[in-house]
Amino acid sequence: MRIESLKAIYPNYRNVASSWRTHLWQIVVEVRTDTGVTGYGYGGGGLASLPIVNGHFNELLVGESLNSPEDVMRIWDCLYYESLPYGRKGIAMMALSGVDLALWDALGKAERRPVAELLGGVRKDRIDVYATGPDSEWYAELGVAGQKLTHRWAGRTDDAVEAASKARQVMGADTKIMFDVYMSWDADVAVRMANDLSEFNVYWFEDVLTPDDLATLGNLRPKISPINLAGGEHEFGVVGFKDVAEHGSYDIWQPDITWCGGITAGIRICELASQYGIPVVPHRGGEVWGLHLIAASNSCSNLAELVLGRQDTATDDLWVGNPAITDGKLSISDHPGFGVQLNEAML
Ligand SMILES: [Mg+2]
Repeated sequence: MRIESLKAIYPNYRNVASSWRTHLWQIVVEVRTDTGVTGYGYGGGGLASLPIVNGHFNELLVGESLNSPEDVMRIWDCLYYESLPYGRKGIAMMALSGVDLALWDALGKAERRPVAELLGGVRKDRIDVYATGPDSEWYAELGVAGQKLTHRWAGRTDDAVEAASKARQVMGADTKIMFDVYMSWDADVAVRMANDLSEFNVYWFEDVLTPDDLATLGNLRPKISPINLAGGEHEFGVVGFKDVAEHGSYDIWQPDITWCGGITAGIRICELASQYGIPVVPHRGGEVWGLHLIAASNSCSNLAELVLGRQDTATDDLWVGNPAITDGKLSISDHPGFGVQLNEAML
């Protein structure tokens, strides 16, 4: 089949957390083909990414053939190199992620196979979920494998100790407890926290420093052991993760498949990770875009993140047909492509 058109849309979100996200949250990318198959992808970069997709990438892609995973990868390389003067990382790569995912979805639909099967087949039928947010009681009811608490440094460790203590008590001894600190700690704080939280068997500290601090992260890693250092949601492409690997910055890599360059970049990052013996736990990996990679890749741990927040939190349901949590786990559906439909009421 051949690509007829490419279109990016910024949905009407009502429930986006304030920060850069209010302006630059996720885009929908639609790719139409001459066979009538339409693929959908989910990228980043918000309104700023629309001219990249609707202008430059559209101009490059119309008429291109799309018949195999190799075609998707060839297109990815073309878009990467053509956008390189203004791209490589950040918004252009977030836009490219959405295009890449739409191409994989279209290919899966054309072949009537889930994307995971295009990636070599489903190796994990039932994937453990961990929930991000404060609602331990709800997560325990769902039976998920872990809870990730968010923490921002405010000059004290006792608030983190209190949160870990409560989570451990409600979630039980066998679950994973993690902390995502969104670049608000420094290395000394991380060491203090590792000491003060030692009795709670914390699985990882995430996003401790910025992605510009790869060498410092590499030095910090042994100092907080056995707690793992996790990160990578702000890193892009296999080129970015080569830097991460060379600095030994993280025990666990967390590329965001809707930002880092899509499934194509995800495959390459997973290959690199396996060379270094690093497990990959994609950021927001419980959403279908990461879930298909987790299901198919031996480099990915059996662990998928869902940002659930509180049970009563209002959400924007942009995609319909997401797999439901059963017994704390997720499975990909056998529907073609990523197996979700766009909620057009949000466009
Ligand atoms: Mg995070």
